[in-house]
Amino acid sequence: MREVDAATAAQTLSEIGYLLRQDPNQKFRAKAFSSAAWAIAQVKPDLVELHEEGQLASLPGVGEGIAKVLTELIENGHSRYLDRLRGETGQPAREDESELDLRAYQGDLHSHTEWSDGKSTMLEMAQGAKARGYRYLGVTDHSPRITVVHGLDAERLLAQSQQMAEVQKQVEGLTLLQGIEVDILEDGSLDLPDAVLEILDFVIASPHVKLRQEPAAMTQRMRRAVSHPHVDLIGHPTGRRPGSREGASYDFELVFREAAKRGVAVEIDCDPARMDLSPEMARLALECGCNFALSSDAHSPAEFDYVPMGAWMARRAGIPQDRILNFHLDRRFRPAS
Ligand SMILES: [Zn+2]
Ligand SMILES: [Zn+2]
Repeated sequence: MREVDAATAAQTLSEIGYLLRQDPNQKFRAKAFSSAAWAIAQVKPDLVELHEEGQLASLPGVGEGIAKVLTELIENGHSRYLDRLRGETGQPAREDESELDLRAYQGDLHSHTEWSDGKSTMLEMAQGAKARGYRYLGVTDHSPRITVVHGLDAERLLAQSQQMAEVQKQVEGLTLLQGIEVDILEDGSLDLPDAVLEILDFVIASPHVKLRQEPAAMTQRMRRAVSHPHVDLIGHPTGRRPGSREGASYDFELVFREAAKRGVAVEIDCDPARMDLSPEMARLALECGCNFALSSDAHSPAEFDYVPMGAWMARRAGIPQDRILNFHLDRRFRPAS
């Protein structure tokens, strides 16, 4: 019997769901696996105990088929079904996959609150991060251009920083960072003036609209964004929505190389609706010398669990823990202690 923890099981089911999504005929099956992965990531059940009691199928969203996969995982440490899907989709296991110790994950750098389109207050998000044992939380609401989500301008960012100071007093041991998810405009400029970006703890620049730009124009746009002196991280770098929307197409190698040169990290957004960068693209970024952030892009505290559920993407891409910012935020933000 293996010590299969809930995060490992959630990652296995999540990867199966992801691979199934590539076949339009398997849409419902894909959804079932992804939902079960999400349920396990949240409930964090003792799987070995449930298995011994023959109760795996009592978990929310876990039917006979998924229970079978979990049983095999607990008994043998891997899933033949996943192996087969990897083979069929041309993404077999590789020698150089990495190991990540999620207990060393220090905090999430991408989250939203009620200040823009999040569903929870800053305090609720901070308490959720603290409850997970995080030592940092980056609050990164949207910039003004995205009016439908009530993006923040300079004035509201200032008001937010005042609230953050208050919330900070209520979450001892957790350092709140004020960031922004600033929109990359069509010409590659950013949706807030430099003077505003400069005072924030860090800046994520993300493409949200006009993702179907011509690759040459898109390359220029992304290149300009990674060259911006205040940008620390490129959020969900393609904007894809697996199963429904193809992401932007550009000269990824050129942009990743530029990002590596400038010390700008690229994101693996673990939101199952995004999974962006994909493991294959993340592998390319790794080869180009980039560092990474492994983010939840959470809009509620429960969604912080997108990270333990989506960490398989970084492992499959072979990214060592040392290249993922979230595992060594102390190096960057040095808490007062
Ligand atoms: Zn975004
Ligand atoms: Zn976001």
